[in-house]
Amino acid sequence: MERRIKVLDQATINKIAAGEVVENPSSVVKELVENSIDAGSSSITVEIRNGGIPYLRVTDDGIGIVSQDIHLAFERHATSKIKEADDLENINSLGFRGEALASIAAVSQMEIITKSQADDAGTALTIEGGKVVSKKSVGCPEGTTVVVRNLFYNTPARLKYLKTPSRETGQITEIINKMILSKPDIAFKYINNGKTMLVSPGDGNLLNAIAVIYGKDVIQDLVSIDYNCELFQMKGYIGKPGISKPSRRFQNIFVNHRYVKSHAISDAINSAYKTMVMINKYPFAVLYIYFPAEKIDVNVHPAKMEIRFDKQSVICQMITVQIRKALLNSVTTFKSPNISNFAKELKKTYVPVQVEKKAINKKIDNIGLNCIKHEKLEDNIKVSDQYKPIYDYKIIGQIFATYIIVEEGDKVYLIDQHAAHERLLFEKYKHMYKTSNVNRQLLVTPIVEQLPGQYMQIYKDNTQLLERLGFYAEEFGINTVSIREVPVFVHNDKIKSLFLDILDILLNDKTVDADDLVEKKIITKACKAAIKANDKLNSAEIIELLNKIRSSKIPPTCPHGRPILIEITKYELEKKFKRIQ
Ligand code: ADP
Ligand code: MG
Repeated sequence: MERRIKVLDQATINKIAAGEVVENPSSVVKELVENSIDAGSSSITVEIRNGGIPYLRVTDDGIGIVSQDIHLAFERHATSKIKEADDLENINSLGFRGEALASIAAVSQMEIITKSQADDAGTALTIEGGKVVSKKSVGCPEGTTVVVRNLFYNTPARLKYLKTPSRETGQITEIINKMILSKPDIAFKYINNGKTMLVSPGDGNLLNAIAVIYGKDVIQDLVSIDYNCELFQMKGYIGKPGISKPSRRFQNIFVNHRYVKSHAISDAINSAYKTMVMINKYPFAVLYIYFPAEKIDVNVHPAKMEIRFDKQSVICQMITVQIRKALLNSVTTFKSPNISNFAKELKKTYVPVQVEKKAINKKIDNIGLNCIKHEKLEDNIKVSDQYKPIYDYKIIGQIFATYIIVEEGDKVYLIDQHAAHERLLFEKYKHMYKTSNVNRQLLVTPIVEQLPGQYMQIYKDNTQLLERLGFYAEEFGINTVSIREVPVFVHNDKIKSLFLDILDILLNDKTVDADDLVEKKIITKACKAAIKANDKLNSAEIIELLNKIRSSKIPPTCPHGRPILIEITKYELEKKFKRIQ
């Protein structure tokens, strides 16, 4: 077969381009409304029928298209918004690629009626499959109406992949919601199958725009955000933790007035709520972020939904910090369930000892345990009767820099302090993991790590589990992740190896072992990374440990199965000393 190379004709080129820009009716609505916004409109009407497939219309009162230029509007790469490549560095309009109208016209029957201030009369143009079939002068007000009929009528393959009209309608509604939020100063009207669905006041008040979409009730659960620094500005509203939603769909992020899907920013918002919302819940947000135009790249994706911006990880950390601050400032107006849990945990943990505090401190000083911090905590916590100890322990000292000796009644315990510490950490971490409350810390400098290909896939498949374990990382190029948050208690020099160990366990054991066993392996590894050779148990921890073992709340072994303590009774000693027979 002869294979010669040919340049495609314009109509074919436009159809191919339509594949990128025009995915479905909602992407048509998005492009047309963006054009109306760029035209400086103060009111925009969107009307659709049956999911927008047979009919959709966008009417605006913007500047219109000069009649001489109208044929150009349907040529690819013809735009009034930029003039040269340098302008790409400084984009202030929503459109700039000059391909939407050409692409939409190539796959539909389109009619455009427009009038600019410079023209006495308006122009009506009909185009089918990209070809102009009629052009005439008409009387009309200033502005533009675009009607798109029978979308994909000449590309049956695309038509086949459209969803049902009601699902396409859902997606259009979603786009219109975002547009209303992106421009509270524009009055929008949305009509579906002849019924008016939404009307926004266009009075510039964001709360009114939010109320149109999410209802008035939501307003009382919002926290205002207003932050300015050299790198960026941030304004808008975030939801109190109580109104968190089951998906990210309720996070509306606008960068320089453009609605974007930015996982990085969305994750930065989520991080601010850590420990305040349950797992699988996402905070509500309507956030506007402004960067100097030259600091962002909006030319990443044909639909311009994704963006890149300079200093992404630093800025995201700042976003997290500022949102967290705003949330904590409004803390009196909501109850964080974890704060009260935390207080309970403290009460349980720091049980006062029956022996006199002074005596304990002296003993502890003798054995070199640092209890100053905990003494302070004990002083600050009023322990209710129900947490008073049952048991009466005396900490005697430490031998061989390893074993702690505790006396209780007619028993003596030798505790392997390293094994005990590991068990305690294991129980605490497991509890935090199970209740999705692992405390994390933001790394000042994220750890960027290149992963073997298989690990990258395992990482992607398990991001939620890793988050529950206290790790938050994001993709950072091919097979590379940037680790940004880690469990608080893991030592800095062990973070990287623990992260890789976890991926390793997930890769090798997940298919073989039950989830519980995999979790146990991971948590055991994490505890190893938490213990330093010279970490010491403090008095409160010793008491907690003994009480828990006594009440069978934890097994008397370290997670690897070595015993934590050896019990010697007075009777056994007396026998050894031949005091009794
Ligand atoms: P872009 O928006 O990227 O410039 P489009 O193909 O969407 O490309 O539009 C081409 C041109 O048509 C725009 O640059 C603009 O000059 C003009 N145009 C499109 N829609 C409108 C409108 N609603 N009002 C005024 N001018 C419009
Ligand atoms: Mg456009």
